[in-house]
Amino acid sequence: MTTDSKTNLFDLDCKEIETFFLDLGSKAFHGRNVFKWIHKHGVTDFDAMTDISKRLREQLLQVAELNLPQLIFEQPALDGTRKWLIELKDGQRIETVYIPDGGRSTICVSSQVGCALDCSFCSTAQQGFNRNLSVSEIIGQVWIATRELGESPSNIVMMGMGEPLANFDAVVTAMNIMQDDLAYMVSKYRVTISTSGIVPALEKLKALSDVSLAVSLHAPDNALRDQLVPINQKYPLEMLIPACREFVRGDKRRKVTWEYVMLDGVNDSLQHAKALIRLLEGTPSKVNLIPFNPFPGTQYRVSPEERVEAFRMRLKRSGIVATTRKTRGEDIDAACGQLVGKVRDRSRRELRRPEAENLKVNIR
Ligand code: SAH
Repeated sequence: MTTDSKTNLFDLDCKEIETFFLDLGSKAFHGRNVFKWIHKHGVTDFDAMTDISKRLREQLLQVAELNLPQLIFEQPALDGTRKWLIELKDGQRIETVYIPDGGRSTICVSSQVGCALDCSFCSTAQQGFNRNLSVSEIIGQVWIATRELGESPSNIVMMGMGEPLANFDAVVTAMNIMQDDLAYMVSKYRVTISTSGIVPALEKLKALSDVSLAVSLHAPDNALRDQLVPINQKYPLEMLIPACREFVRGDKRRKVTWEYVMLDGVNDSLQHAKALIRLLEGTPSKVNLIPFNPFPGTQYRVSPEERVEAFRMRLKRSGIVATTRKTRGEDIDAACGQLVGKVRDRSRRELRRPEAENLKVNIR
């Protein structure tokens, strides 16, 4: 976001910073250096950029700023997962989750304040929607994570609050910065966008960003998916599946990861598994079964473990790679579908989660 007439350089990718510097009458490589200072070295003060001349630094102070969202609380879970509550300039709050796994780390990044999609089993949806995040607010979560961890995360998943493809431009720019060698250097196979299936945006994405694709499928037929993931009424399976197949075409290493939340008695029978196998035929696929994370007021129940396992084995028998997602950070509501932040002026106001004030650890 830009305040006054100053440009926040955290909103720009490397090319855009180069252009900004050329427009100032400076050189592109100075722009590249500043990009590297802010993302790779974490420097947010122009005066600390020692290879930038004093004159240029003074000029930058007039026209540019380095604004990041602020980490205000950290909540640690018993399993090492950490949930970060991050405050934006306008007082909105979002959540980012850090999930350690052996020597590797995954950051789960938010793309919007709340979410407009209204999936019936997701507690973010209950919050309503306020606004899109800017590039600086998205990449700011990665910046914060990198500083907290002392290194770039090994994996970044756009699986936090919001529908990333509904905030297309900012998410594409941020994902490109994540992969940039002068910034976080995360491999294109280790940056994942998770979408409920906004088909036209998905069709556009491939040309602009080479990332891994996860799709919130949750049902093998339109009738059921219409209820669980209402965007399906607009972009039904016969549009979604070919678009996903097209997205991974041309790279043998790529498969679509289908996310499938297991809801007791709703979508978890062997008939559902068989229908799913038929649906995915011809598409390089991996299925990720997600145990349902309940939240107050939900109508759904958790599938029994044996049923999840039977479902997984059925998929496996037909040659589909299927894994069950380990639930992480459950005790602090950091698991899938539990991120709520603090959405101000949301359309639905009932409060379902402890507010930030009740979080346990105040680190700032
Ligand atoms: N809007 C994007 C990003 C969210 S990713 C998307 O729909 O893909 C978070 C994943 O967790 C999605 O697959 C989502 O459907 C799933 N999820 C949401 N609520 C959940 C819950 N209560 N339990 C388990 N998984 C849930």
